[in-house]
Amino acid sequence: MSSEEKALLVLTVDLEAVVSNWRLLRERLSEKANCAAVVKADAYGLGASKVVPALVRAGCGTFFVATLDEGIAVRKVAPRAEIFVLSGPVPGSAGAFVQAHLRPVLNSVEQTELWRGHARTLGHALECALHVDTGMNRLGLSAQDLLRPGVLDSIQPILGMTHLACAEVIDSPMNAEQRARFTDAFKPLALPRLSMAASSGIFLGEEYHFDLVRPGAALYGINPCPGQPNPLRPTVRLQARLLQIRDVDTPMTVGYGATHSVRTKGRIATAAAGYADGYFRSLGNHGYGVIKGVNVPAVGRVSMDLITFDISALPADAVKPGDMIDLIGPDHDVDALSAEAGTIGYEILTQLSRRAFRQYVGAAS
Ligand SMILES: *Cc1c(COP(=O)(O)O)cnc(C)c1O
Repeated sequence: MSSEEKALLVLTVDLEAVVSNWRLLRERLSEKANCAAVVKADAYGLGASKVVPALVRAGCGTFFVATLDEGIAVRKVAPRAEIFVLSGPVPGSAGAFVQAHLRPVLNSVEQTELWRGHARTLGHALECALHVDTGMNRLGLSAQDLLRPGVLDSIQPILGMTHLACAEVIDSPMNAEQRARFTDAFKPLALPRLSMAASSGIFLGEEYHFDLVRPGAALYGINPCPGQPNPLRPTVRLQARLLQIRDVDTPMTVGYGATHSVRTKGRIATAAAGYADGYFRSLGNHGYGVIKGVNVPAVGRVSMDLITFDISALPADAVKPGDMIDLIGPDHDVDALSAEAGTIGYEILTQLSRRAFRQYVGAAS
């Protein structure tokens, strides 16, 4: 028996779908813009060591990660790619950036000073990106910081960037305001490239594309335009094995805290996944799984390793122990599950189980 046949939980990542999503986004871009890929948090939980080489083969040349360690890991699988590290340097880390040919995104005057200090010890200017805050108030230099005398000495900014706060709200006035602050801030510098849009920003139109876009979520199939049909392909399927099926009747209850009371005679299937697998506890009495095309509700609380589903809607002989239930699948995507959990697809993907049996399909995996 292969591991997949034995596994209690199977996570299937479709690399072909990731690549096709990247191509679809690239095709939407204005002519001069390039499409990078954001692969922070291990490619949003999908596995950067598999996702990055697939995207490199498709022609993606620029990657963004959050941390130095992530950058070093991506460098190992993408020897020639351009890699930006969004968090920038901290004291003592500049040498490691240079060694792995990573470009820090400088987010503060302190970080420009750190990078300049290291450039001076090496005796040559060092490449980097400059992040200007235009409304997130999270990270970034201010437009005034950029005008300080000497702030750019010994550093060689090759990219100017900012981040949109409300890009998924197409008519939010924040979008145009941030765009205006962004172009104003970088006008005096005339940098070779500018970058503003992440996944949702791409769909705001060409005037948001500038020279480089930075999609993450959309690559992995999360809908960048909530409320509209999702143009992207789903990339993950999470299937849990059914360990037991039991007949229940009133006045029984299900699970910890007896939060679900059985109202009519029916059947409960117990699946081998739980909150330790990223199936959020908030999905208890709220989530759905799919067996043989039928949506079945999660009833009772989610345990660490087990979920109980009411499968009474299926014919008695349709489901047996050992069958699999889709927690995330073709009929129940990441966005659907995240809505049921009261969160966003980003959080579902980045919490995906580390103990699932993982298989990669498509794109010469
Ligand atoms: C995470 C991140 C992105 C990617 O955002 P998505 O919404 O996942 O496309 C782009 N830019 C910055 C600065 C980020 O932090």
